[in-house]
Amino acid sequence: MRAPRGVAAPERREAALALLAHLRQAFAQNRFDSAGPLVQALHAEALADGELQLAAEAALLLAKGHANREQPLPAQEWAERAIVHAQAAGVVELEASAWVLVASERARSQQPAASMQAVGHVLRLMAGVDDARAVATVFTGVTLSYQALGLDLHALEAARRALRAGLVLADESILLRLQINVVHSGLQAWDQLHEVEPAKAAALLAELRAPLDAVERTTAALHARGLPGRSSHDFLAAGWLARHGDEAAALALLQTLTTAAADLPPGLMSDAWLLLGELLRRRGEDPGAAAEAACQLVARCSDGGAAWLQRAARAEELAGRAAPALALLRRSHARQLATVRAALDERIDELAARLVELQLRDENRQLRAHNQGLEADVRHVSLLAGTDALTGLPNRRALEAAFDARGDGGQVLAVLDLDHFKSINDRFSHLVGDAVLQAAAAQMAASLRAPDLLARLGGEEFVALLDGVSLADAASVLERVRLALHGHDWAALAEGLKVTVSIGVTRVLPGEPLPPALARADALLYRAKHEGRDRVVLDPGMAG
Ligand code: GH3
Ligand code: MG
Ligand code: MG
Repeated sequence: MRAPRGVAAPERREAALALLAHLRQAFAQNRFDSAGPLVQALHAEALADGELQLAAEAALLLAKGHANREQPLPAQEWAERAIVHAQAAGVVELEASAWVLVASERARSQQPAASMQAVGHVLRLMAGVDDARAVATVFTGVTLSYQALGLDLHALEAARRALRAGLVLADESILLRLQINVVHSGLQAWDQLHEVEPAKAAALLAELRAPLDAVERTTAALHARGLPGRSSHDFLAAGWLARHGDEAAALALLQTLTTAAADLPPGLMSDAWLLLGELLRRRGEDPGAAAEAACQLVARCSDGGAAWLQRAARAEELAGRAAPALALLRRSHARQLATVRAALDERIDELAARLVELQLRDENRQLRAHNQGLEADVRHVSLLAGTDALTGLPNRRALEAAFDARGDGGQVLAVLDLDHFKSINDRFSHLVGDAVLQAAAAQMAASLRAPDLLARLGGEEFVALLDGVSLADAASVLERVRLALHGHDWAALAEGLKVTVSIGVTRVLPGEPLPPALARADALLYRAKHEGRDRVVLDPGMAG
């Protein structure tokens, strides 16, 4: 069956998929014995080719084949293989389908806790899936698992979810199955509810009316075409009518059903006999024959699960054998308790994991916030280290750093000193003096070009470092600075206030350190002061 090696992979895959579809058909027609080995070979082939999804599908098909033949162990083994392949292939729906099979097989082989764990996997996997067909199929499986576990309210919830997805599909035969499942699990759930929450039970019964009507319409159409399915409807309708209090109508349906219908599976047929017997007893008639028929059928379809135990207990009780009925009920309750406990454990584990995750996330967030705070502090501190607190200009340290990092493009250095600042302090107060320093710094900085550096050296003394300009160009820039202060309206700060600046300008020699250049500019500043202040004095030795 191996395609010849030269064939392109997609063609081989297509051939394998066609074969798989063919084998699925063979399984559906109960030809497991002949088709089984072929599916196994296909699985091995797919694995060898690294076609993991195909391998998963083949494994799942084998698992279903074994499940249908009531071979729970090989069914689980193949389903587990399908899980591993589907996981590796990253096909979530397929993995979930395989887990569903594991869940129902575990439920059937009386491992309720393990079954609940499998259902937990399914629910987690399906949380992100919105493909309607996948949701409908997987949740139908979940419904059956819950039913086998005797968790009827859960089963109803899963059946509703499957039906909601199925409504989108507009596939009549799928829809019929989903509607049957909702009504069936709904009726079981009603039995759990009606004594504890009668209002909810009544609402549930009303809710089931619509899907039951839909089943009625569809099965009537099937019946007209000679297809089976009518007895499913009659069975559900009888259940609905009996719970609705319409006993006569329910009895009539059940009597026809139990004598004439042959296409109901034994589990449902035993349910029909049980209900018939219970209704007869309620009306004071003898339920004996119905009870015996139910007992025989129940014995035939024993799977030992909680649902079966309940059914068997009802049959024994109806037949008047109270002691075995009680023993069966006890077993059923013990099994359900184990299931519920497993469900709770699952939930607790999940919540604990979630809590740890949340705690970690929170710690992480706190750490990150703390880190960001630290980073901000560091930025702030290093900024402060290079910034003058009063004017916000770079300080002497920053000037030194910028001077050391300068290129060798020929800079111009100017020292700018506010005139008669001491008397400003004296006349207008130190506070006004500070405000003048701030405003003067802003004015001077605004008069320079972006790449020029203006630093506060200390007191009322500033330094400008201009890059890539001639001394003449620098002179006109600094003249602009001088005029900015000279022309500014200082009266806003204090009546009668005037502020001017004197500036000494020199060129930095190649490779020259800061102090001698500063000393030269300082000397020129001194000349500016001496010549009357409010002026710019250029280094005469460095024209151009
Ligand atoms: P000149 O025109 O010759 O430069 O005279 P001047 O008064 O400006 O020079 P001097 O160096 O004598 O005075 C500087 C004054 O600046 C002295 C000091 O109190 C004041 N000063 C230094 N730092 C600050 C400051 O941060 N705020 C204020 N308000 N005054 C300051
Ligand atoms: Mg001064
Ligand atoms: Mg000074």
